[in-house]
Amino acid sequence: MNGLVGKGVLVTGAASGIGEATVRRLAAEGATVVGMDLAPDAPDLGDAVTYLRGDVLEGAVVGAAVQRVVDQTGRLDGVVHSAGVGGGGPIHLLPDEEWDRVVDVNLKGTFVVMRAALTQMTTQDRVNGERGAIVTLSSVEGIEGTAGGSAYNASKGGVVLLTKNAAIDYGPSGIRVNAICPGFIRTPLFESVMGIEGMAGPREELRHEHALRRFGRPEEVAAVAAFLVSSDAAFVSGQAIAVDGGYTAGRDHHVTDLMGLGEQ
Ligand code: NAD
Repeated sequence: MNGLVGKGVLVTGAASGIGEATVRRLAAEGATVVGMDLAPDAPDLGDAVTYLRGDVLEGAVVGAAVQRVVDQTGRLDGVVHSAGVGGGGPIHLLPDEEWDRVVDVNLKGTFVVMRAALTQMTTQDRVNGERGAIVTLSSVEGIEGTAGGSAYNASKGGVVLLTKNAAIDYGPSGIRVNAICPGFIRTPLFESVMGIEGMAGPREELRHEHALRRFGRPEEVAAVAAFLVSSDAAFVSGQAIAVDGGYTAGRDHHVTDLMGLGEQ
């Protein structure tokens, strides 16, 4: 991947799942990475990575994490905002607190992280025409509805449009902003939902809805996140990019089974 060596990047949600895989991929590509997460400790992310404990809802803490990147590399080239939570349920059964928890972390957290990043990026000189790149984490559940999705669907749909809005507002300043919409990826978040009693049936249906007939790996999302930060994506902005094994391609009603095209 081009243009990642020496770049300063902040990754939120860095202690687990997609965020952790993204930290590892960016560091392997030669970026200087600051990882931030609520978790007191991260797994060993290597000597090239600085880990900070912090809540993405606290603007001052996020600002300090941005400053840490700037202290190390002189600028903030990229942000991958992967901190997020699952949750939701049928609307008439959903307490205010659960709505607030999910929408706060997923949508307001995205706003707080973007604000801190854009505050820094807009002050920087351009390098190869660019001031910085921001990658947000939405979901296939931010593009289409899912049974029981409610607060999560709403939060991730909001992330898509906040991302597109930022791409329009800050594109003229040389800042690219894109959202990744993963399908179902085998991370601790995924396992916590799939571990709920009675989920074996829905889990198999969900697997089947991915055209590739499998769940994704965090590294497969991290690869796209690293691409979007890199200069290989220099003309990509304002997009909600599904990394979903064909989940959002459309429905499969097995008509082709009748035509001799079964799973091979
Ligand atoms: P994960 O639970 O493995 O990792 C998320 C990390 O975010 C955790 O380490 C957690 O401590 C951190 N976090 C949560 N709230 C935080 C806060 N307020 N401040 C700082 N850190 C906080 O989850 P994941 O599966 O890697 O998900 C990463 C992102 O991808 C999330 O936004 C999630 O909604 C999205 N996503 C995941 C999937 C999937 O199937 N795993 C699918 C679509 C979208």
